[in-house]
Amino acid sequence: MPSPTGRRLADRRRKLLEQLARLGPVLRASLIERFTQCGKPGCKCMRGEKHGPATYLTVSYAQGKTRQV
Ligand SMILES: [Zn+2]
Repeated sequence: MPSPTGRRLADRRRKLLEQLARLGPVLRASLIERFTQCGKPGCKCMRGEKHGPATYLTVSYAQGKTRQV
């Protein structure tokens, strides 16, 4: 079933992709989804239900610098 959270994430991803399209071919970027563990004892993530997905946009500039958003 679609949850409001899932929709928000999809919205966010779409906005990131739109930003990416506006930036054009100058930048090289990739969208990464990650699941994370917050490390709190007793949290569900410690039992295998990790938090996320968190979406990262990794941008590679010239000179080999990278930045995560
Ligand atoms: Zn947690």
